[in-house]
Amino acid sequence: MLVRPAVWSALRRELAEFLLPQRCVACGAFGAALHPDCVERLELADGSRCPRCWGLHPAEPSPMPMCPRCTRRPVLGLEARRAAFRFDGVARRAILEAKFRGVTALFPPLAQASARAVPAAWEVDSVVPVPLHAARRRERGFDQGALIAAHVAETLGVPVRRELIELVRRTRPQASLGRADRTLNVAGAFGPRRGHGAPPARALLVDDVVTTGETLEAAAGALRAAGVERVFALALAVED
Ligand SMILES: [Zn+2]
Ligand SMILES: [Zn+2]
Repeated sequence: MLVRPAVWSALRRELAEFLLPQRCVACGAFGAALHPDCVERLELADGSRCPRCWGLHPAEPSPMPMCPRCTRRPVLGLEARRAAFRFDGVARRAILEAKFRGVTALFPPLAQASARAVPAAWEVDSVVPVPLHAARRRERGFDQGALIAAHVAETLGVPVRRELIELVRRTRPQASLGRADRTLNVAGAFGPRRGHGAPPARALLVDDVVTTGETLEAAAGALRAAGVERVFALALAVED
């Protein structure tokens, strides 16, 4: 019987998780990938931030409701975004371990805690992961966006609607690119899918880390084209 390498790597990971007791990424003690108490001690992305892009404001208190960049930009797809943690220290290590070392047990505690950063006033009625290319999912053995979306949706008590949009062409990793190239890299990368039920009114896009937000903007545009009225976004962490 032929077993594909991706299947082997998934099996190996599951066997390792079964045989090796889990060690907390924050405190190092055994018992969980990330203890509930340790999640509470991660550095939050709070403080003085733009209510639209969640970027840090200048240090001095400002009466300005949005940052200068957002004030100049019209709302095209995405109305506003939030992130629960700063992409730094333990939160950064936890996300990297989850995404690149396959410690998927880290996603539930991170996603559940992140759901608290979603303002109730958004009244989101569905959660949509940023689509991942099938080849990358096969390489990795899992789809981190789908895992995060499932736990955020469960915490918020709304359904996941991943059938609304799809990746039309493969993109390069955004982290390897400058700002102008990031915009080009994801322009037109996502598209609406046909043949699903009535689109939701207020969707929440989720991703692992937000840096400049081009990926979320591009995916939000596709959700609007799919008929969603208002699109918001949540990331586990923001890179300041
Ligand atoms: Zn711990
Ligand atoms: Zn802003």
